[in-house]
Amino acid sequence: MTIAPEAPAKPIVPEFLELEITGKCQLTCPSLCYAKAGPTEGHGTMTADDWKQVISDAARLGVKKVQFIGGEPTMHPSFEALVQRALAEGLDVQVYSNLYRVKLTHWELFAHPRVSLATSYYSDDPAEHERVTGRKGSHAATRANIVQAVTRSIPLQVGIVEVFEGQRVAEARADLESIGVRVINTDRVRSVGRAEKHVPSIGDLCGRCAKGRAAVMTDGTVTPCVLGRFLPTGNVKVQGLAGVFGGQRWAQTAASIPAATRRARRMIPTTAIRRTPKPATLRTDERGTTSDELGRAGQAAGRRSRPAGVPLARRRGERAAAHVRAVLVGAGRRCLDAPQRPGGSRSVG
Ligand code: SF4
Repeated sequence: MTIAPEAPAKPIVPEFLELEITGKCQLTCPSLCYAKAGPTEGHGTMTADDWKQVISDAARLGVKKVQFIGGEPTMHPSFEALVQRALAEGLDVQVYSNLYRVKLTHWELFAHPRVSLATSYYSDDPAEHERVTGRKGSHAATRANIVQAVTRSIPLQVGIVEVFEGQRVAEARADLESIGVRVINTDRVRSVGRAEKHVPSIGDLCGRCAKGRAAVMTDGTVTPCVLGRFLPTGNVKVQGLAGVFGGQRWAQTAASIPAATRRARRMIPTTAIRRTPKPATLRTDERGTTSDELGRAGQAAGRRSRPAGVPLARRRGERAAAHVRAVLVGAGRRCLDAPQRPGGSRSVG
């Protein structure tokens, strides 16, 4: 007999909250998109005021970082206002964009020291990349904006999802490294949305869901993450964010995921756990913090300490790592950043 967990005395609040603010996107990613996004999709039933309420509630409850995601989040008419609300509430912000088109005002927004970017890139070969995105010209546009982000010293992580056999994943990584991208993740396709091959289950999730992260969909539904959209667990328009995170259903969802996750991790091929080697080899320190995480945190720490408007000097090597390790030791290890953006896999943007 299974005993369902009771509603927790304290809400189970994730540190990282994904806000899927729109289903609209310039691309379609026909065999990949977890959200089934596209040019004809809409922004859903959440109003700008609903989103602002969610953001303020998240900050009050203890969320540390929000990710704006979609669809293409920059296509939402209130995108800038929502990012500004998150920053005003003291939250860190990540924008997961396909970087297909970036307005000048958005570059200015991305220059804020608490904003970072994430995107997806599939191949150094334009034809291969566009086979995934479904749009001609998307490779050149995204690559040019990746270069732009690097040039502007905006923290950026790029996910490469292996969508089809023979895809030039290693070459894509080398291409990204050659243009100065420091944080690169590789992942497999997950069976969600347009990539669905089997009915998705908790075995398809990464395991940080519910306790470490959650997502709010365009209709207010709360799920363990955007890939865990098949696990609806309340709605902010009905219960509010505090009501969802403090409820029995959320506790049950959180309790159900870890065991399945261990199974899922065993299923991940080694190609899916490669990380960007930087500056030498990827290592794990005595606390289990990978050099990848140290580097990302170092990048974030570097940005936070610089005066506004001053270009970020790239921080590499022991000084940054030692500083970040000290921060992590003081604060306790926690997820400092989202590893990848989900697509019908955990990528794409
Ligand atoms: S995967 Fe990302 S870029 Fe592709 S259609 Fe979906 S939201 Fe747009």
